[in-house]
Amino acid sequence: MTAPSAVLETGYGELVDAFETFVRRELVPLAADLGETTDLPPADLRDYARRRSASLGFYAGDYPEELGGAGMPFSAVVQLHHAAGRSGCPLAPYALAGSDGPSPLLVHGTDEQIKRYLVPLVRGEAARCLALTEPQAGSDAFHLTSTATRDGDGWVLNGRKTFVSNADHADFAIVIAGTDAGPTAFVLDMDTPGLRIGQRYEGMSGEPLFELVLDRAQVGGDAVIGGENGVGTAMERGIDSLSRGRLVVAAQCNGIAEYALRLGVDYARERRAFGERIGAYQHVQEHLVSSRAEVEAAKLLTLACARLVDQGTEDPQNAALAKLTSSQTAMRVVDRSLQVHGATGWVRGHPLEFLYRYVRMTTLIEGTSEIQKVIIARAMGLG
Ligand SMILES: Cc1cc2nc3c(=O)[nH]c(=O)nc-3n(C[C@H](O)[C@H](O)[C@H](O)COP(=O)(O)OP(=O)(O)OC[C@H]3O[C@@H](n4cnc5c(N)ncnc54)[C@H](O)[C@@H]3O)c2cc1C
Repeated sequence: MTAPSAVLETGYGELVDAFETFVRRELVPLAADLGETTDLPPADLRDYARRRSASLGFYAGDYPEELGGAGMPFSAVVQLHHAAGRSGCPLAPYALAGSDGPSPLLVHGTDEQIKRYLVPLVRGEAARCLALTEPQAGSDAFHLTSTATRDGDGWVLNGRKTFVSNADHADFAIVIAGTDAGPTAFVLDMDTPGLRIGQRYEGMSGEPLFELVLDRAQVGGDAVIGGENGVGTAMERGIDSLSRGRLVVAAQCNGIAEYALRLGVDYARERRAFGERIGAYQHVQEHLVSSRAEVEAAKLLTLACARLVDQGTEDPQNAALAKLTSSQTAMRVVDRSLQVHGATGWVRGHPLEFLYRYVRMTTLIEGTSEIQKVIIARAMGLG
């Protein structure tokens, strides 16, 4: 039987096969040694997955070859993220560029910034973090209180950033701070005097977040991404790249949902209760059949939006529709598959127990579900 989504998966079969082979042959054996402590794979293994994948041309594959990427269409990248989630391998997501990988903001960098920061990120040789969120500015990222003030040829940055991923292993931070001309993106090496990691927040899925404190952090004029032309442009340039980031999250969610569904179906075919395989009971079928329909719909939507991006249409509404649908689908599907497993799926160390905690972040990151709805409502002429 051919799934409807296969119609949109054409063209990148060999690439996806090669990536899946890499995951199966190289990453699955490494992850198998981790046993039940796989909430967050150790940093050296995450680093290895990133570098090895970059050397094979998968990591940051949509960046141009002259920057160290493979010049892949965006649809191909989306399918790789889907395949990583579907593999169920806890190391696979780290083999593809995520929140510590190349930032689209740096594409607007000066030649020097592209060479010094973007190229090592694309090649998987460096990692970064993004410090945007503040204690009083999350979804409402336009109302930052952190400041950057001119000081001779350079700038002095002050403020507090919260919930920053990857700060503990980043080589540098992209910091968005307010200036007279509006929010501005700066790139700061992590050892910049006045920049320090503050509080550590333990997350549901094991990956910690951090506070970044800017206490009179002094940087040169060359720390503004894009140089003098970049002053005041952080939001408009950031918004331009949001759609792709949201479609990547959607693809990750669909891959995870497909993996969770597979676990649920396999279990329902084997597990017996009251003298029958539980998959014979309609209440159990309901969990799995509804999940199957929803995963297929979310996947079709995401693949179609990715294809539109390749055709030149980067409509924020499309990405919002796909991210909203896929993240909510993934939460429901993981929940239902866990239910089908009974207590077995609830026990610490079971993949569904981990995924139940892991997918919870997907309706918060890259814009909450409510913010996706705001975008869609506006596009519908409401509000
Ligand atoms: C796992 C994880 C990783 C993260 N990584 C980073 C990172 O690397 N760098 C970084 O800067 N930040 C990061 N964040 C922070 C993330 O970007 C914010 O949590 C997110 O933008 C929401 O902001 P908030 O938490 O302050 O919630 P708030 O903005 O305070 O929202 C609270 C609630 O109000 C709702 N709401 C807000 N405004 C509206 C509105 N207009 N209409 C309807 N509902 C609304 C929200 O949807 C939410 O339900 C991360 C968060 C998580 C969970």
